[in-house]
Amino acid sequence: MNNIQTGKCQCGKVNYSFKKDKVISAHHCHCKDCQRTTGSGKATILFIAKKNIEVNGDLKYFESVGTAGSHVRRGFCPECGSGVLSYAKEISHILYIKAGTLDDSSWVKIDSNFFASAAEDWSKPDESIKSFEKNPGVMSSIKTLFKSI
Ligand SMILES: [Zn+2]
Ligand SMILES: [Zn+2]
Repeated sequence: MNNIQTGKCQCGKVNYSFKKDKVISAHHCHCKDCQRTTGSGKATILFIAKKNIEVNGDLKYFESVGTAGSHVRRGFCPECGSGVLSYAKEISHILYIKAGTLDDSSWVKIDSNFFASAAEDWSKPDESIKSFEKNPGVMSSIKTLFKSI
C-alpha cells in the first residue's frame, strides 16, 4: 500500500503530494460558502499541516470572512477553476485539501460534519458521524490540531 497520495486540479497545472498518515482529519462542510464554491451540497476537506504537503503550481485565492470572523482563503486553479485547497488566514499552517481532487480518495474516512445546520434536504449530513451545528470553534480545532501534529 502506497503511503504517498497525489492529487491535482482538472487541467493538472496545480498538483500536490503528501503522506497519507500525515492527514489530521477529514470533514464534510455544509456551510453556504462551501456550497457556492463547490456548486454542490457540501465540500469535503482533509486537514493537513502545510509543512506536510508539497504543492506545485500557482493557485489563485478568494478570501471571505467566516462566521467565526476568520478569513477563509479558498484556492483554485486560475486555468481550469478547480477548487484545490483552502485555509484560514488565522491558522495558516493548516491546509484544507478538497478530497475530490485526490487521484485516489477511496481510503478517506470522514470524522465529522461542519455546519450541519446549513445543510439542505437534498444533501443531508451523514448521520453516522459526529455533527457540529456550525464549525467546532477555532479554539477546539486548534486544540485538536495541536494534539494530532
Ligand atoms: Zn487546473
Ligand atoms: Zn464550509
